[in-house]
Amino acid sequence: MSSTVTAEFQSYMCLICGFIYDEAAGLPEEGIAPGTRWADVPPNWTCPECSARKDDFEMVQI
Ligand SMILES: [Zn+2]
Repeated sequence: MSSTVTAEFQSYMCLICGFIYDEAAGLPEEGIAPGTRWADVPPNWTCPECSARKDDFEMVQI
C-alpha cells in the first residue's frame, strides 16, 4: 500500500495538554486561517492552552 494522503487534512495533538489542532478548522482566533497545513503554522506558534511548542505536537487520527 502506498501512502497518498497529501490531499487530506490532518489533526495534531498537543502531547502536554491534549489540545488538538485541526488543519481543516485552523485557529482563526490565533490568526491561523482554516485549511492551514501544520507545516505552514509559524514555527514560533505555541499551544493556546499550555504554550507548548510545535515539537510537542503529534499527528493523530480522528
Ligand atoms: Zn498544549
